[in-house]
Amino acid sequence: MKVLVINSGSSSIKYQLLEPDSAEVVASGMVSRIGESLPADAVTIEHQSDGETFEHRGEIADHAAGLRAVFELFTASGHDLAAEGLGAVGHRVVHGGEVFYEPTLITDDVVRAISDLSSLAPLHNPANVVGIESARALLPGVPQVAVFDTAFFHRLPAAAKTYAIDAKVAAAHGVRKYGFHGTSHEYVSGKVADFLGRERTDLNQIVLHLGNGASMSAVRGGRAVDTTMGLTPLEGLVMGTRSGDLDPGIIFHLIRTADMDVNDVDALLNRQSGIKGLSGVNDFRELGRLIENGDTAAKLAFEVYIHRLRRYIGAYLVELGRVDAITFTAGVGENDAKVRAAALAGLERYGIRVDEARNTAKDRAARRISADDSEIEVLVVPTNEELAIARASARLVA
Ligand code: ADP
Repeated sequence: MKVLVINSGSSSIKYQLLEPDSAEVVASGMVSRIGESLPADAVTIEHQSDGETFEHRGEIADHAAGLRAVFELFTASGHDLAAEGLGAVGHRVVHGGEVFYEPTLITDDVVRAISDLSSLAPLHNPANVVGIESARALLPGVPQVAVFDTAFFHRLPAAAKTYAIDAKVAAAHGVRKYGFHGTSHEYVSGKVADFLGRERTDLNQIVLHLGNGASMSAVRGGRAVDTTMGLTPLEGLVMGTRSGDLDPGIIFHLIRTADMDVNDVDALLNRQSGIKGLSGVNDFRELGRLIENGDTAAKLAFEVYIHRLRRYIGAYLVELGRVDAITFTAGVGENDAKVRAAALAGLERYGIRVDEARNTAKDRAARRISADDSEIEVLVVPTNEELAIARASARLVA
């Protein structure tokens, strides 16, 4: 059985056709710059299939047009989706609110409910809905499944998920910590148990998902008990372009004194802050090059990033009491040995000892980077949200 996984963002669609059992990726690609006016030769879709790359050039008016063009590329590359015998289409949906907390078969009511949650995720949920509607129209006979980024954090303990504001206001407006990247945190914490040959119910874990967006979770016996992202993905760690935690008073201060309105501050904190706001670049490879060239702003950005990581590592060590494994994943976590080393430097008294040679070895597989005498295992485990979504979708329709 094959599953098509669709991750529909505000101006892009990422997709993969894969076999959930073997994890084999049959084809994959990305539609970018949806809705922009572009020259006719601009590449807007790159599609990989059987080792070959296929391209689509020219404007993509909207998500429906993007998916139609993707389906044509599938056909052109020898995988007619209508004839492929798809078992399911799995959609990544960002916000499930209080409503959805497990993979859900998509019906008209489900689409409406995801759309109703748009006030909590104004950039993401509307794009997810358009992706779902387009895929349903193009593949009418195939079951469609929604897998929610918030689901893994649905049962956070009350003390962890409650913001200390007027309880009536919070209840009326759905204000609580929801958490995101849940598919990745759940997948990676499961892989850690496999790697260690232990039951996930026996393990206390800290997972650091450090990509362009970044979040950390504390997982006790397979269940998330805390996470850094909140009502929205803005809370917590310093990210590529997001500030993470800050004094909420900064928002009022800017609105009152900097001639900014709420949309300006939203854009500032989500798109012009974090590593980018401090250094001018948001990619850690470029940040590393700037630091090597003596750029002091880049050095400070790195230090602020690490300071925040360590603050939460300390918090989660205390929250969990006993920690068995600390695991790095996603683009930065899997690739940047300097970030990993700095995040855990000098923590020997807490049972954490990273082995330098293991940490800097080039390896793509799940691996241990702690020293043999480290009480807490430190691991690097590649995440695979598409595979997790494909497997969840296949299980649901089986
Ligand atoms: P997204 O949040 O977009 O899914 P990813 O998990 O793919 O992000 O992470 C993307 C980020 O990973 C890049 O912006 C870059 O900072 C970082 N990254 C990717 N490759 C490397 C590398 N070899 N070394 C350091 N950082 C890397």
